[in-house]
Amino acid sequence: MSSSTDRSDPVSVQPQANRKGSSTRVIHGVRERCAAGAPLLTPIVQGATFAQHAPGEAALHTYSRASNPTVAELEERLGALEDAPPAVAFASGLAATQVLALATLAAGDHAVVGATSYGGTVRLFAQILAPLGIRTTFVDATDVASVARALEPSTRLVLIETPANPTLALADIAGIAACTRAHGALLAVDNTFLTAALQQPLELGADLSLYSTTKWIEGHHATIGGALVTRDARLLERLRFLRKSLGCIQSPFDAWLTLQGLKTLPLRMRAHSEAATQVARALEGNAALSRVIYPGLPSFAQHALAQRQHGGGQGGGHGGIVTVEIAGGRAAALRFARALRVAVLAESLGGVESLVTHPETMTHGDVPVAQRQAAGISSGLVRISVGLEDVGDLVDDLVCALAASQQFEAEVANAR
Ligand code: PLP
Repeated sequence: MSSSTDRSDPVSVQPQANRKGSSTRVIHGVRERCAAGAPLLTPIVQGATFAQHAPGEAALHTYSRASNPTVAELEERLGALEDAPPAVAFASGLAATQVLALATLAAGDHAVVGATSYGGTVRLFAQILAPLGIRTTFVDATDVASVARALEPSTRLVLIETPANPTLALADIAGIAACTRAHGALLAVDNTFLTAALQQPLELGADLSLYSTTKWIEGHHATIGGALVTRDARLLERLRFLRKSLGCIQSPFDAWLTLQGLKTLPLRMRAHSEAATQVARALEGNAALSRVIYPGLPSFAQHALAQRQHGGGQGGGHGGIVTVEIAGGRAAALRFARALRVAVLAESLGGVESLVTHPETMTHGDVPVAQRQAAGISSGLVRISVGLEDVGDLVDDLVCALAASQQFEAEVANAR
């Protein structure tokens, strides 16, 4: 007699959502089959509170600051992408980072954070947590030995961003995870730039994945949101308790929009990666640029690690960010930004519209100058979030704007 788990018996096989591919998981969630008459799209449960039968009696949802059915559906699908329990969704990526810090650190504790990180992350640790008695060492996370050396007896959390914003420097997740595990510290990976569609931090040994869902996950520049994913049940409980206590859950409407974006995440990440590869190849060698940084280029300093760590090791792509350094420095970078006609100068990244950001004056303006310079965030550095316009139009736009960025220098040089 075959058991109920006998895979040769097609009737008894109970398909598990996590055995399915990533697109199927995010499109259908973990449900077995849509009930007849059920709405295909998760409804927006736009409400603050929920009926209870008796005071103190357990109810699935009680108050939307603690949990909400629409947010819960998003959390289930985000978790399923990483073979993890439901994620914890937040009102922003920085709210997720803040809750991560408060869940793992107290006064007297020490954190290790990648020196090249989103500017808001640096500001949180350096300016908000430091006065509360939480010390942070910012390290070169491209070097596992530097991270290992920075660990102290009171180190509880290591937070790395890979690829890092905006230089795309990589950290070896598995190598660092081996160190943090031996030390008894938790490793969190800000996986905003690649998402679980292209990089699986938990599979590589990290304890938590952190996201600004504002970016590729929602994908249309329509919402602000964040999420934490972990397989550690006690940590999950603590994260939910802190979210309820601090009041930073994602709104039902933003969660609903993010659910719609999430359904095309694997498809979009492949398309963004392909377009970014074309943009990087087209710009490499442009006379206006001193550097073109893209993990998929053989010239990328950590190309071997990129190939190992990204795309599930199966060439799934290196994401949609290309960072370039304009040879003429800040003035040329600003002229480049002003000359754009397809890409838009704006904060943020990760949507269908291509965006260009000047980190020194925008996203990383609050990072101390010395730390910015050490991280390679020069005045000429420009981050390009490659959208889904026709890639030829985007390349033409970037090449023309680069030519414009050099015009003033060329005129000056001619006049001499
Ligand atoms: N992590 C990274 C890598 C980011 O780029 C950002 C924002 O740019 C954040 C976290 C913060 O996310 P949010 O803007 O959703 O608060």
